[in-house]
Amino acid sequence: MSAQEQKGPFTQKDDMMSDDIVIAGGGPAGLAAALSFARDGWRVVVVERAPQAVLQSPSFDGREIALTHHTVQWLKTYHVWDEIASELVCPLEVARIESGGMGGPPLLFHAPEGSSADTKGETALGYLVANHLIRKALYKVAERTKGIRFMCGHSVTSYQAGCDDVQVALSGGQSLTARLLVGADGRFSKLRDMAGIGAIIHDFGMNIMVCRMRHPLPHDNTALQWFAEQQTIALLPVAPDGGEGSLSSLVLTLPPDEIARLRVASAEAFSAEITQRTDGRLGALEVVSERITYPLKAVYAHRFHAQRVALIGDAAVGMHPITAHGFNFGIRGQEILAQEVGAASGDPGDARALRRFSWRHRRATFPLFTATNAIAVAYTRDDGPFPLARRAGLMLADRLAPFKRAVTRMLMDPI
Ligand SMILES: Cc1cc2nc3c(=O)[nH]c(=O)nc-3n(C[C@H](O)[C@H](O)[C@H](O)COP(=O)(O)OP(=O)(O)OC[C@H]3O[C@@H](n4cnc5c(N)ncnc54)[C@H](O)[C@@H]3O)c2cc1C
Repeated sequence: MSAQEQKGPFTQKDDMMSDDIVIAGGGPAGLAAALSFARDGWRVVVVERAPQAVLQSPSFDGREIALTHHTVQWLKTYHVWDEIASELVCPLEVARIESGGMGGPPLLFHAPEGSSADTKGETALGYLVANHLIRKALYKVAERTKGIRFMCGHSVTSYQAGCDDVQVALSGGQSLTARLLVGADGRFSKLRDMAGIGAIIHDFGMNIMVCRMRHPLPHDNTALQWFAEQQTIALLPVAPDGGEGSLSSLVLTLPPDEIARLRVASAEAFSAEITQRTDGRLGALEVVSERITYPLKAVYAHRFHAQRVALIGDAAVGMHPITAHGFNFGIRGQEILAQEVGAASGDPGDARALRRFSWRHRRATFPLFTATNAIAVAYTRDDGPFPLARRAGLMLADRLAPFKRAVTRMLMDPI
């Protein structure tokens, strides 16, 4: 039964219409959208199923987010960047891709000369910041922004869209009335299902483990992505924490049973195994954080809108992390939505504005979504011609200047 057919929670209108836009989900995409809408003068309510304390002080979730220049500029414009201590931001200067075990030269990407400089005056491909710090900063700014209110500890359970408004039912029996409902409830979005929108779901059959590791050799602000037989490893540079040596974030992709084994291994056994898996290239690695795992599934909604509903963030486009674009696309998507809604008739749920948003966001994301999945498959299969093709591909890519320039541009997304 679709949300529109569910009449139950809406037989009594218990709230006066006081909000223009309801955002389901107070993750990074939902919070960013709230800021954009509020700046345009819309009254916004963010409904988040987690308690307020989680938004105020989200815990470390293992993700180090590579932010493009465009995203950093957006965060600066909304004063979110000011809430992230500069010493916790790690500039990314080089991306190095290797086909481990088979030799061959690495594929290297640098920021081009003359691109915008970081705080130290160096050019950077992008900036790495821990996800929980981004979420905390976004919430801090949203909380003090006029026009945004929060209903934490509530889930959106159903909705009913009409010609003039949308009624939104929450867990606990309350309901809200607004003119636009934004689904920002993550890649396994219930709102997408409620709206009857299907999705391409690409299950890679692998899990990801992320954690921080300390090591004696410097990382030189280099992100290393390493594809070897039976494993994909990334070591992402992390800003120093005052402890000895350097810090990197390990992103390890393996079959689920291997990840499950490593998750419960002792810290010593785990550190020794990762040192061996990385050929000791940063010296002896020592795990210094929780080990957190994620299923590896990419998601792309068939449409990004329905009547008085728009999907943003991972609910619209849930990327494989290999090209580091999920959050960056989340920022792009909510920007496009706010622009189209702002340019419309004065009704934030205007059908034409939602169609234009859907079309523009699809055009901005679909090519990289499909390319990312193709790369991820090519680099995680070890059967048939894949290993040799990987090596040949890297050698060829290294010689193709236009290809390298295009990838660098994609990584940086200049302002
Ligand atoms: C290992 C890893 C590394 C990554 N690295 C990068 C990177 O380098 N660069 C990059 O750009 N991206 C990266 N990403 C992707 C990025 O983390 C996500 O794209 C981003 O967090 C998605 O934000 P979101 O707000 O759409 O969804 P989420 O963060 O999933 O937030 C959804 C929110 O909705 C709430 N919610 C769910 N259901 C309901 C409901 N019914 N009602 C109310 N609230 C609800 C949830 O509690 C949650 O707070 C990475 C992801 C992973 C897993």
